Amino acid sequence: MRIIILGPPGSGKGTQAKLISQRFSIPHISSGDLLRDAISKGTELGKKARDYIEKGLLVPDEVVFGLMDERLKERDTMGGFILDGFPRNLRQAHHLEKILSGKSMDLVIYLDVPEEVIVERFSGRRSCKKCGRVYHLKRNPPAKDEICDSCGEKLIKRRDDEEDVVRKRIQVFKDQTQPLIAHYKKYRKLKKVNGKGEVLKVFSEILSELEKG
Ligand code: AMP
Repeated sequence: MRIIILGPPGSGKGTQAKLISQRFSIPHISSGDLLRDAISKGTELGKKARDYIEKGLLVPDEVVFGLMDERLKERDTMGGFILDGFPRNLRQAHHLEKILSGKSMDLVIYLDVPEEVIVERFSGRRSCKKCGRVYHLKRNPPAKDEICDSCGEKLIKRRDDEEDVVRKRIQVFKDQTQPLIAHYKKYRKLKKVNGKGEVLKVFSEILSELEKG
């Protein structure tokens, strides 16, 4: 199964993508995680990406293509995958179609969340510096205060989760990513899901859309 999950920053894409990945045993491929990983390893590509991410801007397409081309060649993607954060503009969507050379996506999930909910979510958002796992202090807290359940590392607030950068990211989403909704609607692949509720409630809505096919 090949799935894309689309939505504004803070819509819960990463959380839902992880649940989908576990349920269907397909890899969760997050362009944001791949970029953050390159940054923490100090690679040339990571150095190029850092400035853009901290300003809430999209990293240049060529940088992202380098990472995604490699990732989508790996063997574990043969049986499908869930893409989170890619594509993020029309040029990236066309690039994806080229990489997949004829294999089409099965479904594009659009997680719809109002802007005021997004801003509230970011204020409580914390991330693990080591494994990238994301928590929300109220919605999805770690078992131990401010400590990652997966790796025991201290949680941090990412620079790009600060309010000024979040507002920029929302604007970038409206200008560059939202046109993808019309693009996928054209191919009748798009399913809109209300992303406002509890994590498991949103997940069960996604599952029922997946069952409908
Ligand atoms: P995310 O974790 O998906 O919210 O991504 C965090 C940041 O990484 C974004 O604000 C962008 O700066 C960058 N980023 C992630 N995916 C992409 C992409 N497909 N194209 C360009 N920049 C991206």
